[in-house]
Amino acid sequence: MAYFWISPFRAGPAACRCVHATILSQPMSIGCPIPVSVRIGSLLVAAFLLGCQEPERDRQQEHHAEDPYSANVVLEPLMPMETGPVYHVIAGYDPKWAELVREGVERARDYWGSYGPTHVWIAGTDEGATLDEITVQAWLDEYCTWRTEGTDIPFEFCLEHAREMFIDVVERGEPEAYLSESRETELRMAELVFINVQKWYFPEDVIPDPVLRGIHEYTHVFQLSVGPMPTWMMEGGAVFAESWLPAIDGQRDVKFNMERILERAKRMGDPNLTIADMESIETAPPHVAEHHMDLAYDSGAWATAFMVHRSPTRSVSDLRDRFYPLVAEIGWEAALPRYLDMRDTQEFYDAFNAFMELSAQQQVGMLDELKP
Ligand SMILES: [Zn+2]
Repeated sequence: MAYFWISPFRAGPAACRCVHATILSQPMSIGCPIPVSVRIGSLLVAAFLLGCQEPERDRQQEHHAEDPYSANVVLEPLMPMETGPVYHVIAGYDPKWAELVREGVERARDYWGSYGPTHVWIAGTDEGATLDEITVQAWLDEYCTWRTEGTDIPFEFCLEHAREMFIDVVERGEPEAYLSESRETELRMAELVFINVQKWYFPEDVIPDPVLRGIHEYTHVFQLSVGPMPTWMMEGGAVFAESWLPAIDGQRDVKFNMERILERAKRMGDPNLTIADMESIETAPPHVAEHHMDLAYDSGAWATAFMVHRSPTRSVSDLRDRFYPLVAEIGWEAALPRYLDMRDTQEFYDAFNAFMELSAQQQVGMLDELKP
């Protein structure tokens, strides 16, 4: 399934949509939530559902004797790899867009560690330009050669899908950024997709949004090396990284984005919902999925900061070096209370909900106490 942002949102975090399962086959078995959450106003962001069409039944059976999208399938984590991601950029696209994405991806890789195999696919057209058929064919061939290797996915099937996935989006002029993963290959692989990167770029931004999107999506690559974790922890961790990495690099105060995120989290449309309702976007009922942006991204980012603050060292790098390895070892539901010396996850949720009742001044002040 996939969510994407149509309009860039400038003052907030680098919005992303994340694909937790795709792509050349059907994600229906893990459900298709309908998070048509449309934000209007300063955010002007729309998340739509994409790519949950059910392909023909015979086709899917032909491809998957065992359904790789079943929630019951436990996937092997991504592996530590010395070599970095392989970058693919469509011909004719101004290299500066790929450079911005790469800057973010590599900054995050430097921080989180190098995992993969990871491929980064960057496509778009510059203002006034169009894609010619030779460029399109070369791109689709490059993608499908990689994507079908070692699988039983027919090349033609991939071409058809990839055209929708890349070319149609480029031509519609829509920006997209997401992580998806290949589950059909023997080795699990991550693919990061960035389309029409120029749409996120505004010269006045201190940190260009394409850089933040690179940070966000690569953080998910790291998370996939750890193992399963709830949606709020995954998205919240990535959104928090967008604020934290520029802050420790001295580029921008951590509060810059976090304050805006907090405002949105506090404006959450349904006061009865909390991050505890957002453990799995795949299985969330529609009334919860509708608020997945507020819950997973906005509240999730603050839940991540809160988690660090409640940890013994208040160190963000300990999140990487101690907490996530603990998740890999004993699972997130055991790791979270153990790391925070709490009884269970409910105690964490209760503590976080109480924190969210504090004044904004107290909440934002907490960020000053976080340590690298
Ligand atoms: Zn994400």
